[in-house]
Amino acid sequence: MVIAFDPEDCPPNCSRPCEKVCPANAILLEELSTGDQSPCNSNASSKLQGGVVTERCYGCGRCFPVCPYDKIRAKAYIRDSISTCELLKRNDVDAIEIHTTGRRIDLFEELWHSLGNSINYVKLVAVSLPDMGNLTFSTMNTVYSIMKSRLGYNLWQLDGRPMSGDIGRGATREAISFAVRLGGMKERPHGFYQLAGGTNSHTVDGLKKLGLFQVMVFSVIYFDSSSSLSHLILNLLVDSSLSSGISVKL
Ligand code: SF4
Ligand code: SF4
Repeated sequence: MVIAFDPEDCPPNCSRPCEKVCPANAILLEELSTGDQSPCNSNASSKLQGGVVTERCYGCGRCFPVCPYDKIRAKAYIRDSISTCELLKRNDVDAIEIHTTGRRIDLFEELWHSLGNSINYVKLVAVSLPDMGNLTFSTMNTVYSIMKSRLGYNLWQLDGRPMSGDIGRGATREAISFAVRLGGMKERPHGFYQLAGGTNSHTVDGLKKLGLFQVMVFSVIYFDSSSSLSHLILNLLVDSSLSSGISVKL
């Protein structure tokens, strides 16, 4: 899913919260003056131009609730494996995120094999999957076994509430309960872990209440420009024994 709207349909004086909230800079707007702009013309007007950069939108849903005029719509966007391979081989993508429900491993395997050697061009593969209860770790192990022969770094993005837009206190409860269960498990599949869907500004307070929040200070984080992972984002530490690290967005 990606989002779409017609910028010319937006009020030109909108404060553009959609643009500000997007973590992927996928909404780019500018105000364009139209008509006679001379000071004596009281009919000077403007309109918005630009819109959604579909290639960057990853359907997180954050922009939906912030639009005061209900202009934003979701639309299906299917990028086939051939065009995905071509995109990866351009060698300007650091990381790829694969969403799976975990219920159709055969489809995951099909997708993975269809990506072929193009996967070697990315530094990190993130797999996003929901809380599957007792099946979560066995599913992750199966997914990892499919990927491991052609894998650099891998990240598990574990969604307490998938595609929640991460807004609101309610969305974080499921993320935290997922974190509590993860923290209690001993044999965890290989990779970095990130609590994803449902994490927001309420999550830290919730984790603190349960004694699950801790801060790790990285004394030096340095990547040179030729080899860097281009964007670093916060990784929540769930408990002292849980793997931690950095995660990457496109
Ligand atoms: S759905 Fe998420 S990534 Fe896409 S434009 Fe909206 S905020 Fe940005
Ligand atoms: S917030 Fe809504 S109305 Fe305002 S620019 Fe974004 S899509 Fe248009």
